[in-house]
Amino acid sequence: MTASALRSKKLWTPADNSASLAWFDSMLSESVHTEITHVMPSAWASDHRILPEGLTSMPGPFRWDVTPYWREVLDCLAPTSPVREIYVRKGAQVGYTVAVLENFIGYIIACEPGPSMMISADAGVAEASVELRVDRMIQSSGLEHKIFSQSEKKHSKKTGDSKSKKEFPGGFLMAVGPNSGSKLRSFAIRYLLGDELDAMPAEVGGSGREAITAQEGDPWSLAVRRTDSFEAIRKILGGSTPLIKQTSRVSALHDEGDARRYYVPCKHCGEMAPMEWKHIKYEKDPEGRLIWPSVRYECPSCHGEWKNSDKAFFLARGEWRATQEPRRPNLRSYSLSSLYSPVGMRSWEDICEEWIKAQGNPGKIRVFVNTVLGEAYEERGEAPAPERIMLRRENYFPELLNIHSDGSHGWVDASMPPGPLVLTIGADVQHDRIEVELVAWGKAKTSWSVGYHVLNGDTSDPNAKPWQLLDEILSRPLHGGLPLSLALIDSGDQAPVVYAFCDQYSGGALPSKGSDRLDSGRRIFALRDVTGHACKRIDLATSDLKQEFYLQTRVGPIDAPAAGADLPPGYCHFPSDYDRRYFEKLYSEDMVTETDRMGRTRRFWKVKGRNEALDCRVYALGALYVVASAITAANDDKSGEVDWPLFWETVAK
Ligand SMILES: [Zn+2]
Repeated sequence: MTASALRSKKLWTPADNSASLAWFDSMLSESVHTEITHVMPSAWASDHRILPEGLTSMPGPFRWDVTPYWREVLDCLAPTSPVREIYVRKGAQVGYTVAVLENFIGYIIACEPGPSMMISADAGVAEASVELRVDRMIQSSGLEHKIFSQSEKKHSKKTGDSKSKKEFPGGFLMAVGPNSGSKLRSFAIRYLLGDELDAMPAEVGGSGREAITAQEGDPWSLAVRRTDSFEAIRKILGGSTPLIKQTSRVSALHDEGDARRYYVPCKHCGEMAPMEWKHIKYEKDPEGRLIWPSVRYECPSCHGEWKNSDKAFFLARGEWRATQEPRRPNLRSYSLSSLYSPVGMRSWEDICEEWIKAQGNPGKIRVFVNTVLGEAYEERGEAPAPERIMLRRENYFPELLNIHSDGSHGWVDASMPPGPLVLTIGADVQHDRIEVELVAWGKAKTSWSVGYHVLNGDTSDPNAKPWQLLDEILSRPLHGGLPLSLALIDSGDQAPVVYAFCDQYSGGALPSKGSDRLDSGRRIFALRDVTGHACKRIDLATSDLKQEFYLQTRVGPIDAPAAGADLPPGYCHFPSDYDRRYFEKLYSEDMVTETDRMGRTRRFWKVKGRNEALDCRVYALGALYVVASAITAANDDKSGEVDWPLFWETVAK
């Protein structure tokens, strides 16, 4: 300090002293006050959080005894905790949104404000969850008075309270979608909350002004970069139900952490272990339906049985244990399946019922693995080697079409072993031919190929040879002893001709369009009206059907079964005289996952050669779904699901 500055400095006075003391006092009380507001998030939740009616099955004051496992996760978010990143891989109905996500937002607003961003599967979902959940949490937890515009301008029209932004003293919460490229790059945040990480697109897309270059890639990584300027005090929370193993974002992030599992004690022997699906046991009645009282959890140590109602006992006594070293310090990861769903939410009985209903449907098994087990689903779409499948050909005879030298033709009926109950047809229409497979089905979707015909000729002409021959096939009263239930004819190539052809069959033959989109949880088929035609079109989820067929091929020995061996239900039978070309066309596609140099992965069906036989089989299988759904729909099942045990029981009569 210079001499002149010293001179100009006011001399010390008693008045200054008292002012300074007052200031010191206020500082002190403020710091004490700050100390007091360093409550743990879990304590804030149990003291202030009220769950409103309507959105939860357990309204009233928030209680940790319902979902005790989330207490530790929420407390990682306290400023006193060294944890900076938390990833949660979870099943459905485990109370995560209420106990972790909403409590965390409430705690930020009430106790530890800062700039915050919530990113969800898309902008609409993010805004809807603010409107539905955050708004109600704010109202019911007495935080409404904190939400107002923090703008300094007088007479500002901003309320500080919109669907996508909540402002509060010391911070704000912004809800964004993964395609909001500009928002993902524009402001620094201390708190990042990610919901449904696996449902976000692999890269920031969007259009127009929002579109950015591919180099910027993954929306989650972009969002994480927003927290860099708060590195020492940031909190990153990402949660999701996982989807596909090869591309699961939450699984990859979880695996970088310490992979905590929730260990619970056995009520008989006290042994602590995480719960696993394989220890759930149940029995079925002779009709294949779940016997509800038989559902129990068997302790892997003492084989003692626990019931769903014991959850209140063992969940409260559980604890998280790390199962590996995290790749970065201050990174924690948790996973929790729906087996831990509290009493009053998802029961083990419900879960067993869903498992039984999912059998034979890869789409539903995938949903089960994702939403119940909280695990990513490993898609197995690789085709078995045709030369191995060929070895399982059996001594029965397919339906034959014999073309004579004078151009005339004749049919030879198939000679089938016992077992088939229903017959369907799948037809693939190319511009110069129609390929047709007849498939007979028995219990558990055991299948027999009854015949495979290639009908050559110009398919754009409705009077040409292939359509005449297809009409003959459809008109034959029996194929290997069975009447035709339904034929699905691919309308992708010659739609108008196929529609007009199907109009003649009053429902026995329907046009069909396949979609190879690899979405999860869609229905296998949907019925569509066709303008100007009497027939309806069947839209098929062919990707799911291909996977189902490939999985079905793996039932029983892959090649030749031992002589006299009992073949398991669900086995795929082929007649003796199908040649190698047929099997090459049938097992002609692989589901592959490719990663490009940007690190983005994509999955698709890769066609290895001609694939008409696979298309025919998939259409024939789709036709079986349509028939089974029509027969079992009467049984008050509004979900449109097929009750397979009932279906096989009905057709066996
Ligand atoms: Zn035990």
